Parts: sequence; structure tokens; C-alpha cells
Amino acid sequence: MSIIGQITQIGVKGGAPRSDRPQPPGRPDRSGRLDRSGRPDRPQRSHRHLRRAGGASLVTALAVSCAATAGPTGTGPGPRLDEPLAAAGAGLPLGAAQRAEAEYVAASLAAYADRLAQAEARRVAAAERWGLAAVPLRPPPPPARKPDLVSSPGHLRGDGLPPVITRVPTEDKVVFFTIDDGWEKDPELLTMLRELDIPYSAFLSDYVAKDDYGYFRRMHRDGAAVHNHTLHHKELPTLSYERQRREICDMQEVLAAEIGVTPRLFRPPYGAYDRDTLRAAATCGIEAVPLWMEEAWTRRFDYARTDRVLHPGDIVLTHFRGPEEWPGGGTMTDMVRRAVNEVTRQGFAFARLEDYV
Ligand SMILES: [Zn+2]
Repeated sequence: MSIIGQITQIGVKGGAPRSDRPQPPGRPDRSGRLDRSGRPDRPQRSHRHLRRAGGASLVTALAVSCAATAGPTGTGPGPRLDEPLAAAGAGLPLGAAQRAEAEYVAASLAAYADRLAQAEARRVAAAERWGLAAVPLRPPPPPARKPDLVSSPGHLRGDGLPPVITRVPTEDKVVFFTIDDGWEKDPELLTMLRELDIPYSAFLSDYVAKDDYGYFRRMHRDGAAVHNHTLHHKELPTLSYERQRREICDMQEVLAAEIGVTPRLFRPPYGAYDRDTLRAAATCGIEAVPLWMEEAWTRRFDYARTDRVLHPGDIVLTHFRGPEEWPGGGTMTDMVRRAVNEVTRQGFAFARLEDYV
């Protein structure tokens, strides 16, 4: 198989997360949205070593370019984004400079394929090291267009209100891992999720996160998204509109200062909200309110539905908790192990919530 073919299989079409592709700061994400800081709220994730390596951005760009050259099915003509390479493919005579460039591209792609294979080997080894029953499945490429969201059945909806969702409308066999509050700051959790390359999103509440925002900055650098879970974790419907607004909107400012993000997503404590909550959240940039369908614990995995199986697009909730807080004990890594095994056993993969919402 040609190098380009390998790349297409291994990397571009074979399911390498689209977030691998470099996205310069300040450019809109696929939805065209920018967060308030001017950065797309799409922290880079996975295969970080590729981006650290010199010239990796170029290589990735070339791989994408070559996939486009091959056309959407890999057989059609497609746009010729890389002329020397296209010329090489067509057997046209090449000048020395073009030949050198084509050789450089081929070598770069080969190196890229090699690094992808090495990354996968490391992930397999990590799954064994962390005691998983199987290697976590890779999610499919993110949707080209995010699904339109409306509030899930039984939840408030209305013009100008962010939708309240417990799952994302998708047929992909993916679920979303979300971790709330911020009490426990277990470094092993970050290591485990990084080594397994599992996407996740944190919904932080200032009153517990604030003693070590450095932990959550590291988490964010690893690629995890950080979202809003209020300042003080109050039951919001018991508060006035103005106090609710402060709980949500002041937390936006805390996260902008501490993490460098202004979240688009917000989760009310206990999942408790009213119309004022949604109105207040909308005033400070909140676009969606993800609740959850399942909850992961160290000793069990809870389902909201009676069929007790995952459905595509389900949102899974868990918490940053220490061994003394989990019923029956255990650690964050025990919780992850149990959750990942459950998800993998049912043929699902964890995907990035922000790729869909
Ligand atoms: Zn909470």
C-alpha cells in the first residue's frame, strides 16, 4: 500500500481524532464559533507528541491535504491541494525541486504514520498497565456539522434559552465523559486519561476547585474541556434571578482568569434549574446545558433508563472524589477503569462532547 494510502487508512480516514489537526488560536471552530477569549473552545487533544515534534503541524497538514487530493472516496480526482505530489501521482515529469519536495512529503508522511502507530502501541500498553479489560475503542471522526440541539424530553425549552440535554442526537456509538465539582485532584487521574487518550470534560465549581486551579490548568493542557458548574454549588432554583446570574456568570469570569476559557457549556448543581437559570446562563454566553443519562462510580455504573444499556450520544456523569467520598471506597482511577470497561464492553467509545455540542 502506498504511503498516502497508509496515512489515509491509519490517520485521516481511519479515525484519528480530528482534533489532531492543528487549529491556530483565534480561528473559529467548525461551527464558526469563537469563545469570548477569541480562542475556539476546542483544546487540542491526543497525540500531543506529534504536535510537539518539529514540523508536525506541516506533516498533519500534508496528510489532510493528501486525503483531499485523493478525493472524498480515495478514488476520485478531488482538489489538487499539493501540486508536486499530485504531479508525482500522475507520473508527470518532475523538476529537481519538485522531486525533492515530493520526497520530503513522502518521508514526512511515513514519519507521521510511524508516530501514529507508536501512539497506538502506547495506548495498548497503557490499557494493560491500568488493568482495563480491553483497549478502549476509538471514536469515529467527529461530525462535519454539530447536530441541532433541542432540550431533551421533559426539560424546559424556549426561544433564547440554551437547550437542556441528557444525550446528544447522534447515531455514532459514542458517549461523553463528564466530571463534576473538583474536590479530588488526583494526579493519577490525569495520567490515566492522558495515556488512554480518553476525551473528557470537567464542570468545575469554584468553591472546591479554587484551592488548586493549577491541577485543572494541567488537565486543560492535556486536552480536557473545562466548563461551568457555578461558584458555590447552590440549588439554583432557590435563588433569585440575580443571584443565579452571579453564580453562573461570575464563574465564567473565574474560569477565564484561572484556566483561560470562557465556557459555552454549563451544568447546574444537582441538575436543578428553572427558567431563570437558563435565562441567566444565556446572558453570559452559555449555549447548552448538558445533564446526564448515566453516572459512573467506583463500584457501580447507574443507568437512568430501565433497559440499563448505553444509547448513542449519552452523557455520562461522574465526580472528582477521593477514596473517602466514594461509597465503598476506591479511587478516581478505579472509577475510570469501571466506566471504560462498561463502555467498551457495549461497543461504545468516549468522544469529545465539544465536537458534538
Ligand atoms: Zn456538582
